[in-house]
Amino acid sequence: MTTPVLLTFDMDAEQLWIARDPDSATKPVWVSQGQYGPKVGLPRILALLKKYDVAATFFIPGIVVENYPREIDAILEAGIEIEHHSHTHQWSDSLGPEAELEEFQKGWDAIVSATGRNPRGWRSPAGELTPDSVRYMEQFGMSFSSNLFDSDTAHLLTDQGRQTTIVELPFAWVLDDAPFFLYSNRLTGRNMSAPSAVSESWILEYDGISREDGTHFMLGMHPQVIGRHSRLWALEQTVKHILESGTGAFTTCAAYADQVRPALLARGPLQ
Ligand SMILES: [Zn+2]
Repeated sequence: MTTPVLLTFDMDAEQLWIARDPDSATKPVWVSQGQYGPKVGLPRILALLKKYDVAATFFIPGIVVENYPREIDAILEAGIEIEHHSHTHQWSDSLGPEAELEEFQKGWDAIVSATGRNPRGWRSPAGELTPDSVRYMEQFGMSFSSNLFDSDTAHLLTDQGRQTTIVELPFAWVLDDAPFFLYSNRLTGRNMSAPSAVSESWILEYDGISREDGTHFMLGMHPQVIGRHSRLWALEQTVKHILESGTGAFTTCAAYADQVRPALLARGPLQ
């Protein structure tokens, strides 16, 4: 029994801050925190992935795809797939149906134009779905969603009780770098954990998950957050632990969704 391991990186760049507070676009220090992700964090992350020869999936807002062409090329040259993470990273639950659809379309167009590949999965920038989000995912032919927190096991996404063929790949805040490390002097309070506390949490989660059938281990990370040396150490400890355990199989979200979908469809609606 191997446990699928999904390393995911949301490269939000400046949009992480601008989406939280549009005024931050005029605040160079705030914006610079976002720029650190693609400019400095990304090359370190790509080097780590290459060192251990492990797969990963990036979720990137369309406007970041457009603003960072060299960095996008570096991701593509590393053989990494880029998935849909809106266009501007504005929180979809504050947009309204038309503006949310526009975010889907523009983000889609930016990825297709830069990569020549249709994105196959969508992660909400808001950490929330609107009543329209699942329908939009279907409209754009999404194969998978990575949004919910309801399970450690892939399942078919439902839309107000109706089962879709979209595979939901749930994750968890404890498996995300932001709750441990994301710091803002105004918006999110002071929040910096010791890297050893983070790797301990992630390794304990992996050990538990890997003893269960049908589960997956997904980490959610942000280049501007995890891209510091001390924090990459926490990721590296986790990756080394999984490799040494011999129980994990690093894969992409799209590949894993394709792998599990036939069995999920055969099983039929969950009661
Ligand atoms: Zn994001």
